[in-house]
Amino acid sequence: MSPPESVPSAMCSTLCLYGQGVVRGYAIGRAVVMSAASLEVAHYRIAEKDIESEQRRFTLAVDETVRELGQMAEDLPADAPRELGVLLSVHAMLLQDPMLVQSVCQLIAERQYNAEWALTAQGQILVEQFSLMDDAYLRERGADVRQVIERVLRVLSGSVHWLPNLDAVDVDGSLIVVARDISPADMMRLRGGRFGAFLTDLGGATSHTAIVARSMNVPAVVGMGLVRTLVRDGDRLIVDGLNGLVLVNPSEAVLREYQERQAAFLRERDELKALRFAPAVTLDGIQIRMEANIELPEEAADALAAGAEGIGLFRSEFLFMGRSSLPSEEEQYEAYASVVRTMAGRPVTIRTLDIGADKTLDGEVTVATNPALGLRAIRYCLANPEMFNTQLRALLRAAAHGPIRVLFPMVSHMHEIHAARRALARAAAELRTAGLPHDAAVQVGAMVEIPAIAIAIEPFAEALDFLSIGTNDLIQYVLAIDRGDTDVASLYDPMHPAVLRLIAHTINVGERLGKPVSICGEMAGDVRVTRMLLGLGLTGFSMHPQQLLDVKKEIRRAHSNALRVKVASALNRAERIDLSTLDA
Ligand code: PEP
Ligand code: MG
Repeated sequence: MSPPESVPSAMCSTLCLYGQGVVRGYAIGRAVVMSAASLEVAHYRIAEKDIESEQRRFTLAVDETVRELGQMAEDLPADAPRELGVLLSVHAMLLQDPMLVQSVCQLIAERQYNAEWALTAQGQILVEQFSLMDDAYLRERGADVRQVIERVLRVLSGSVHWLPNLDAVDVDGSLIVVARDISPADMMRLRGGRFGAFLTDLGGATSHTAIVARSMNVPAVVGMGLVRTLVRDGDRLIVDGLNGLVLVNPSEAVLREYQERQAAFLRERDELKALRFAPAVTLDGIQIRMEANIELPEEAADALAAGAEGIGLFRSEFLFMGRSSLPSEEEQYEAYASVVRTMAGRPVTIRTLDIGADKTLDGEVTVATNPALGLRAIRYCLANPEMFNTQLRALLRAAAHGPIRVLFPMVSHMHEIHAARRALARAAAELRTAGLPHDAAVQVGAMVEIPAIAIAIEPFAEALDFLSIGTNDLIQYVLAIDRGDTDVASLYDPMHPAVLRLIAHTINVGERLGKPVSICGEMAGDVRVTRMLLGLGLTGFSMHPQQLLDVKKEIRRAHSNALRVKVASALNRAERIDLSTLDA
């Protein structure tokens, strides 16, 4: 990764490390380096007579770890990030999975490995299986296996001091946690302390460190590769969470520069809060819809607090993941209805299940020839009509409590729209017959994330009530770049003229046919491209609640029509747009 432009030239002699910045903000403090038990385990063979006692040592350590995780979940303080509770139970479940426990006992018996060796060996197999999965979220679950193993290894070694002795680090400011990876249970212990930032060797945008740090609003840089090796306890660090930059033992001049940047950032944060309920209108009076993306029903409260005008994307698959059975109609109804109630009359867009072909819902792993192009999302739902029907019934019932928009993912054919509408009509007819309260008049829309639908958008726009552009997938399919493959990450280019032309075309057709178009991919929340998106004519944005105010601020100081002229002229020539030419 190349250094960001914002690095001051005065720091030529400072060690700079780069990773993926996942939470904006600055931190200045001293490093505390967490040890990784799996890197330090002893590998030896045991005698045949000791097999049973070694297996017992292992299962006792597993029981102890499950007990610890359960205790932590119970003791979660009321203000703990909601994700933590969910993640702690996912970890306890993984530990009770026979795939892990029985296979380790088998390795101890058959190969006479000691418990630590058997556990790390089996863990590696599981982590590899997860790494083959197409979906970035599921791939990250390999990290859960690794973290659970770390925990058991700590119990096996009898080590309680998993964090370095904090008293030994002579600091009066904040501490910056440096780790190979941070499990949800570890995050739990770290929260509430003097921790100003999290840095990890592993992980990506959907890793736990990223998810939990985002909800705690603590700067984090993940996927740093070697930070745990290069940084020592007590090193002074500067963390720039926006640019994914870490400066080690900077000079006084650099330190002062970043102290100023940090103070300016905090001032700006405070000023932004005042914008929560200000209208998102451009200088030339164009009204913009600002909505939020959520993954769990509880996050609707964050969306509301950040001033969201509605939910632009509820990724319903998160209700289906990390469990061994499908959520019932009742459970789904409760989840959707709770979001609708929280949003108090504001529209709630619920995307139907977007699960990949790489994982069946009972947890059985199958790898399709190419999962990204396989039986996923709407294709998967239409192939599993009963499961789809349960979700649609739950959605229509929840619609009785307030406005719901149903969003179908990964649509590429008109017949999929017809089939999905038929499925919706069937669910409504069943509810009518059963006399259950519901609202069948929900708005129906599709994700524009496969190039085919963007290129031939007219009939789709005519047949639907709204369109939502999923740039995350659209970019991967237009450029033939797997969005989760780090080897080709540099080619994943949201600014490619081909991508922008498809977005512009979708917006223009939506405008002409009077159908609202929004973007709910990561681009919508990236303040660096807000002006460019306004220039493409975008009037609907949906993003993580934390990003809403920054984007709104940019919208309120932009002149939409002037931007449209500039962007259209570059697009006509299929040229790359130079973002600096769009500045005010
Ligand atoms: C997208 O593809 O842009 C999108 C919002 O959906 P997801 O990231 O869940 O695939
Ligand atoms: Mg998508």
